[in-house]
Amino acid sequence: MLTALKELLFSPRGNCLGCLSPLGADTGCFCADCYASIAPLLVSGEAESEICLNCGEEYVGGVCRVCKKHRVDTIRAVAAYEYEGAIRNLVHSFKFGGVWRASRWMAEEMMKACQGGFLDGVNVLIPVPMHRMRRLMRGFNQSGKLARAFSLISGISVDTSLTRVRNTTQQVRLSGEKRRQNLKNAFRAERSFDGETVLLVDDVRTTGTTAVECAKALLSANAAEVRVLTFAKATPNRSQNKKYRPDRGTKLIKYEKDPF
Ligand SMILES: [Zn+2]
Ligand SMILES: [Zn+2]
Repeated sequence: MLTALKELLFSPRGNCLGCLSPLGADTGCFCADCYASIAPLLVSGEAESEICLNCGEEYVGGVCRVCKKHRVDTIRAVAAYEYEGAIRNLVHSFKFGGVWRASRWMAEEMMKACQGGFLDGVNVLIPVPMHRMRRLMRGFNQSGKLARAFSLISGISVDTSLTRVRNTTQQVRLSGEKRRQNLKNAFRAERSFDGETVLLVDDVRTTGTTAVECAKALLSANAAEVRVLTFAKATPNRSQNKKYRPDRGTKLIKYEKDPF
């Protein structure tokens, strides 16, 4: 109810979610310029990767970049876009401004990115859980929204039996080892996943620490395999160069008057 009200009051319907310019009658997510600026990772062959089950970083050329180990356990991960530019602004609109029209498009793009049998054998979708206190503050869990939108397209059902048992410091303020400590034992599987293949769903994968901690909880509850699907990912090199800060566009979107 509260979120529906927020949406009604603050959603910039009719504005581009990349640059905020008016879209006219078009009800899509992006203007022509922003649309031209985005490139699905599928096109460059970077949509699917493996991430290290120890630290969550990408496993490239047979070795984990952080653990510097060969043959560490890995999990398969797919992302539709790089977390930058218009895509980053769209995620912020979705997350902080509650722009629901974004979720359907995001789910469609995630579906397109799932090639090469990535969804084969998947029994259930699990949104990365948010602690109930934070959920209360925000009014919704963006991963849950995305998982439901993705469920409508894929026909795979959503299961919410992975819960967040500790309210942790926001990951964006931490790095490396601190992220791992912060999330240790933060998640708990509320049921046994005997032999199931589980697809974790989230909006953004920055380091894969969150995904890895969720995966560990699911694997210890007997899941056969855990894979990770996110709308966007921040690749290690690029995110190290950039200082992470909340996007300036977010405030603009929240307080912008609806032109219609
Ligand atoms: Zn635009
Ligand atoms: Zn590693």
